[in-house]
Amino acid sequence: MALKKCSLCSKPKIVAKILGVCRECILERFTEALPYIDRAHKLTRESFSLPSSSLTEGGGARCNLCARKCLIPEGCSGYCGLRKNTEGVIKGPHHKEAFVSWYLDPLPTNCVADWFCPGGTGCGYPQFSYKNGPEQGFYNLAVFFEGCNLNCLYCQNWHFRYSHLRSKKSSLKELLMSLNQKVACVCYFGGDPSPQAPFAIKLSKLAIEKRMDSILRICWETNGLFSQALLPQIIELSLITGGIIKIDLKAWHKEIHLALTGFGNEKILQNFVFVAQFISKRESVPLLTASTLLVPGYVEEEEVYNIAKFIAELNPEIPYRLLAFSPQFYMSDLPLLEKKKANEVLKLAKAAGLKIVSLGNEHLLR
Ligand code: SF4
Ligand code: SF4
Repeated sequence: MALKKCSLCSKPKIVAKILGVCRECILERFTEALPYIDRAHKLTRESFSLPSSSLTEGGGARCNLCARKCLIPEGCSGYCGLRKNTEGVIKGPHHKEAFVSWYLDPLPTNCVADWFCPGGTGCGYPQFSYKNGPEQGFYNLAVFFEGCNLNCLYCQNWHFRYSHLRSKKSSLKELLMSLNQKVACVCYFGGDPSPQAPFAIKLSKLAIEKRMDSILRICWETNGLFSQALLPQIIELSLITGGIIKIDLKAWHKEIHLALTGFGNEKILQNFVFVAQFISKRESVPLLTASTLLVPGYVEEEEVYNIAKFIAELNPEIPYRLLAFSPQFYMSDLPLLEKKKANEVLKLAKAAGLKIVSLGNEHLLR
């Protein structure tokens, strides 16, 4: 595998060209690494006409719709590019309309929770699953939110960044029309559902009402940046329906998280702790799960061990899935992960105290 010289320590390392700096320098020489990190995110956002600054300081109107809480200057957009400050008022998608696309996905599907969820295994049958095994013959209504409040340099669904995809909002009515009797779950993903959460919450409530007395699980695949004010409703919707909340814990050190995603992980970890309080309210199907993408050179043993320890201290029964890396977007120059390395990391996650750990996307290992 070709190593590159880190721009700070000059040592040959696994270094993504877009960042130019290695993991060790990000951690040990953060002040010097920061201009490289800022440059990488500025560059990758400008090409999609998305705001390059983190919008945490300065003047403007505050958007509270997700945990980023952008301070948006007059006439400008928030970090997700979905909301704008127009004469002091934040305008954008709301609970009746959203930038969203959707499709019916036959169950069992390849969602991150499929290895233990009711749709993939029949867990929670008969209260939360139609079958005592994989729910063949049923569907997941997969709802893709076009927009995100992070800027992962390896984003696998990066196409939502093209603003022409966000030229038309869809209504609750249009989505509800896809909800036939064979739909067993609704999964919100994207991009991320958090910047458009009011729409997902309203849709879930109407869908549950429409499908009264039949199983309809509400699930979330998210980066975890939900507004804390909306989180109780999101948890309740999943709890009562047998749904699962999957939160990506992308890195343990906030510096690594910032380098890879453009934002620190403090609020995500806080939200994870908040959701974990509700696990004991439903034992038949796990309410919360976590996943981490193993990014060669950046998210390996130390990041995963610390994340796993953090999860295990909350509850050792929380399922944790590690995902093999797929070189994409601005990190397409990174190598595939070695099988040996992935297995070592998996062992560490178990050694940190977690009981339910697995490795996904194994076909991507070398
Ligand atoms: S939804 Fe989040 S990212 Fe988008 S403008 Fe509001 S606070 Fe910023
Ligand atoms: S959170 Fe997901 S959708 Fe958003 S930028 Fe990161 S990888 Fe892409």
